[in-house]
Amino acid sequence: MMKCQEMLAALGDYVDGELTPEFCAEFEKHMAGCDPCVIVIDNLRNTIRAYSAGVPYEVPPELHQQLCGMLKEAWRRKFPNAT
Ligand SMILES: [Zn+2]
Repeated sequence: MMKCQEMLAALGDYVDGELTPEFCAEFEKHMAGCDPCVIVIDNLRNTIRAYSAGVPYEVPPELHQQLCGMLKEAWRRKFPNAT
């Protein structure tokens, strides 16, 4: 079973749809048993969908902060040499 940290680290790829089917399956499996991750991913999905649909969407400040933290962490893991 994946850890939440691993989930979030791969979040950027997940959002971009760049994960392998195997990894996606792991994602789904993890989310089946992890409420906090379900909430985070659901919020993220809705946010992304709203943006990609071109619909103006006000992200709640706390969610925005949460997403930024997650994505920053994911980014940092993916590109350790970037500032
Ligand atoms: Zn989790």
